[in-house]
Amino acid sequence: MMGRQAFDQAQLFYSFNLEERIPARHLLRRIDAFVRQALSDIHYELSAYYSHTGRPSIDPELMLRMLIIGYCYGIRSDRRLCEEVSLNLAYRWFCRLDLEDGVPDHSTFSKNRHGRFRECDLLRLVFERVVGICLGSGLIKGEGFAVDASVIEADASRYHGLAPDEIDWSKVEKPSRAVREYLEALDETAPAEPGRKPPKVISPSDPASAWTAKANKRVQFGYGLNYLIDNEQAVIVDVEATPARTFDEVASTETMLARAKSRFNLKPKLLAADSAYGTGKFLAWLIDEEIEPHVVVRDLSNRKDGTFSRSDFKYDPDKNIYTCPTGKILTTTGRIHEGKTLLYRARKNDCQSCPLKRKCCPKAAERKVPRDVNEAARDIARSLVGTPDFERSWDERKKVEMRFAHLKTHHKFERMRLRGLSGARDEFHLAAIVQNLKTMALRLTKPPTAVQVSA
Ligand code: SF4
Repeated sequence: MMGRQAFDQAQLFYSFNLEERIPARHLLRRIDAFVRQALSDIHYELSAYYSHTGRPSIDPELMLRMLIIGYCYGIRSDRRLCEEVSLNLAYRWFCRLDLEDGVPDHSTFSKNRHGRFRECDLLRLVFERVVGICLGSGLIKGEGFAVDASVIEADASRYHGLAPDEIDWSKVEKPSRAVREYLEALDETAPAEPGRKPPKVISPSDPASAWTAKANKRVQFGYGLNYLIDNEQAVIVDVEATPARTFDEVASTETMLARAKSRFNLKPKLLAADSAYGTGKFLAWLIDEEIEPHVVVRDLSNRKDGTFSRSDFKYDPDKNIYTCPTGKILTTTGRIHEGKTLLYRARKNDCQSCPLKRKCCPKAAERKVPRDVNEAARDIARSLVGTPDFERSWDERKKVEMRFAHLKTHHKFERMRLRGLSGARDEFHLAAIVQNLKTMALRLTKPPTAVQVSA
């Protein structure tokens, strides 16, 4: 006999226990113990930022728990998040709300999130606590790290970019938070470092984002999500937001490694990274820090037109000269070009009378050989390629790429919701907090039945 649901919603009294309704295998239940640990005494940490008079504010722990839900389940709008928390029993349970408790209004929620939370760097504090719990649980080995960056599209139209000299910031009547932040950062910025190219296109609505076509994507404005992971369980040890420019992404790795050392006393023996990180300056920094660079070095010195490559010239480190295939000497004046390259030149007379000139410098009066000022560091990195340790860490490096893939597919994090570098920072910290919490749920809790929790 076909059953039929009896519609009787007029019952007056219910025997209902929210705690019993949330199964042990539910993701929120599995991460709850870690969240409780990370948020313990959070009120004490924040007390200096709250007034002791006036109406009570929204509980910061409630807001943090709501944000964790939002980034766990890819709920990207504050308005929708408030609605979902109001309607979903598991979300209510995780937020410590009873059935009749009110949920914050989305506008108050957004105001608090962008105000006090940023002032006291709350998301950074919570992220570091989560990393601390991972460390205490033995999920971080601290021997090998990997670093990578992924482009996240900015909340800025790709059709409205302008050349920097086309924007007169002094004529913008009511600059947005993102524009104010950008202008303040410009005032504080030190003189341009060698190797950093000025932007060709700027977004008037989110000027801190970078105009990029990285990762074979369409050209767009974007931010670089930089993750430093421990290779053992792919725990995110540090996270940094930068404009989506390789120069900034490489520079942020130094910041992240230095911070992992100062905050957690973590100093890896090796770092795995792709060829974007194979600059002489960065490799030299790693070697100075006694971190083995498991990095592929991009070598542009190999010529494909049949003429001699740099490898056909012999370098003498003691005399700081190159010797060409006919035994002539190439010397340098010591002048550094583009902040990183020395040029070694042969004598014009030697080349003019040389029988191998057509195979060496057919279009130039004399041969020039470029050499990075940190070529010795690049040589060390090259010598490590192909060793068993390198192969293993190169394989483990894929875990950081998996982190980005999961973030984009499972958490629907492909486009920024917030503008400005501080908005990117907030969003990236929350993403990293959630991904680390899921790793702990997967590795440290045992659900009664097997479930799929993608890290
Ligand atoms: S062209 Fe000049 S640098 Fe090249 S092999 Fe001849 S002498 Fe040496």
